[in-house]
Amino acid sequence: QPGLYIVATPIGNLGDMTLRALDVLKRCDGVACEDTRVTGKLLKHFDISKPLWRYDDHSGERDRQRLIDSMQTRAVALVSDAGTPLVSDPGYRLLRDAREAGVTVTTLPGACAAIAGLTLSGLPNDRFLFAGFLPQKDKARRDTLDGLSAIDATLVFYETGPRLVKSLDAIAQWDGARDVCVARELTKLHEEARRGTATELAEHYRAHPPKGEIVLLIGPPAEQEASEADVDALLAALLDEMS
Ligand code: SAM
Repeated sequence: QPGLYIVATPIGNLGDMTLRALDVLKRCDGVACEDTRVTGKLLKHFDISKPLWRYDDHSGERDRQRLIDSMQTRAVALVSDAGTPLVSDPGYRLLRDAREAGVTVTTLPGACAAIAGLTLSGLPNDRFLFAGFLPQKDKARRDTLDGLSAIDATLVFYETGPRLVKSLDAIAQWDGARDVCVARELTKLHEEARRGTATELAEHYRAHPPKGEIVLLIGPPAEQEASEADVDALLAALLDEMS
């Protein structure tokens, strides 16, 4: 069946490849991917040999158009280096333009680091907000955190080892009372989900510089207990209104 197939791939454990992903990768006409070497290795592991076309969101308009044209008559799979395409990964423009061109699009869900981190963290997961990578520059990072202050949900970020301690320091300064979780090397041998305040975690990772890939999660703001003064003020305002 011609069209665009969005195919999630494992984030570290090849056992997380889905049956449907294997089926589509075996039957498609070609695979659009971020890095042909990374995807070539993955396909080789599963004994699949297909034409690989490099594609990312910096690819030119013409490359994108050519891929979309071919989707009218051929089955094209889109994969990223790991996890779910489009989630902090290329594909948004391709998907948008393919839909506009009337291409049939379908998705094959599977591994996603943000969701894996959330489910392992033990932080509230009834409401969460995925916010990609925190900015690197101090002011931009603070502004981003400030912009998320009032959101009553667990915040989920992608993070890198070399930047983790700086981010934790910034979170400690921003709202040191929140529960934080560093979820590292998910689905891999050294998987870990370490909980604490940002200050505690910064101290730990300063002493043990983290290796590997990281999802950083921040619990929702602590519930504000009304202080006695607040209650007094509320009562006074009510009495005032009644008189
Ligand atoms: N699209 C991918 C997904 O669905 O998971 C994410 C791509 S994003 C460019 C890469 C980031 O995802 C890494 O920097 C890290 O923050 C996170 N990540 C990927 N694999 C991970 C893993 N096994 N454990 C923890 N975090 C991971």
